[in-house]
Amino acid sequence: MQLTDEISAGRLPVTERLYFPDSYLTEFEARVVQGEQVGKFFEVSLDRTAFYPTSGGQPHDLGTIEGHPIVEVVDGPGGSIIHRLEHHLPVTRVHCQVQWTRRFDHMQQHTGQHILSQAFIRVASLATVGFHLSAEYSTIDLDAAEVDMQVVRAAEDLANAVVFRNRSVTSRLVAPDEAVSLNLRKPSQRKGILRVVTIEEFDLSACGGTHVDRTGEIGGIFINRVERVNRRTRVEFVCGQRSLDSYRRRSGDLDRIARGLSVAPQDAPDRVEKQSQEIRTIRKRLKTKDEWLAELLAHQLFDQAPSKEGTRIVKHQLDGEERSFLTLLAHRLLALGPCWVLLGNRGEQAQLLMARSESLGGDLRPVMKECSLMISGRGGGSPALVQGGGSDSSRLRTALDCAEQRVLALANG
Ligand SMILES: [Zn+2]
Repeated sequence: MQLTDEISAGRLPVTERLYFPDSYLTEFEARVVQGEQVGKFFEVSLDRTAFYPTSGGQPHDLGTIEGHPIVEVVDGPGGSIIHRLEHHLPVTRVHCQVQWTRRFDHMQQHTGQHILSQAFIRVASLATVGFHLSAEYSTIDLDAAEVDMQVVRAAEDLANAVVFRNRSVTSRLVAPDEAVSLNLRKPSQRKGILRVVTIEEFDLSACGGTHVDRTGEIGGIFINRVERVNRRTRVEFVCGQRSLDSYRRRSGDLDRIARGLSVAPQDAPDRVEKQSQEIRTIRKRLKTKDEWLAELLAHQLFDQAPSKEGTRIVKHQLDGEERSFLTLLAHRLLALGPCWVLLGNRGEQAQLLMARSESLGGDLRPVMKECSLMISGRGGGSPALVQGGGSDSSRLRTALDCAEQRVLALANG
């Protein structure tokens, strides 16, 4: 069948992948074999391409076709590759340019992954069962729920030794029969011809991705984080320029923390630990003191509260207290005898709390609804305990006075 027949039959021809023999190719000429508007994108298939399509955990390349920016590159049916553009392409012969910084970054991360995966096998027989390359970092998932940090550092050391030795990275196409006899890191599920990537004297794997020619180009492989995800261990790492960016970001963060604590960067971790301990102790002491204070204040306020027509109404405004202190004080007051409690608290946000003893009937919710509007806020709760907040602290006193009038009406109703 001719090319044109295949297209008219709805099948795209196999795209020649120029990045297979040469990951460093960034400029090429190609012929458009199909172009059509699909949704908001114009989809183009070429007879040959150096643009890598998203697959195997590695994101697609970017660049331009005839000066038009590529939005996405994906695998099409039957070995074809589809390039998505924002605009219509009016020509059939095209000049293409691959964005090198993104491509080279992916080559570094991806080749780094091959080395790191093999390193975990050599150090602790830990197989890689997942790989993901994202904009900030890459991850591999190891087939173990827990991995000792000593193993992690040993694998990292071995991986970097392979980088420093500047070993060659080569690829070749292999027939299925031959592939079986090769000691591949992971058996391939693919049928037919396999592309095998070899890292000299270290790793052999089936892979269709883009890689550097020599391991030294990776610069270094650094593990930033290890975490358990389900029953696997996720290892987060960076290579190449990302290592430098990550180092700068982290050392900048550490400097900022150290400056804030007025200590040398190397003393910052101990100081943070010590301060955290101090904060825990202070919080505990503050909690005890709040309880004492609430108890004392409750007695004072209860004793001073006027008893209007047989109902004791405790109305009080606090300044800059935690919301939890209002609740604590209300509970202490209610424990002293039958009363209505009307509390306000001035702060960045004005707060209101109203409560009544169970023995006194009446629904406080409409009272809160009306009074919280006065402080430009809202509130709610149960008939016997309501809380609210608003942005206008200057009207808190008025809101409390209004609450007192409503409560008196409730008590006498
Ligand atoms: Zn690869």
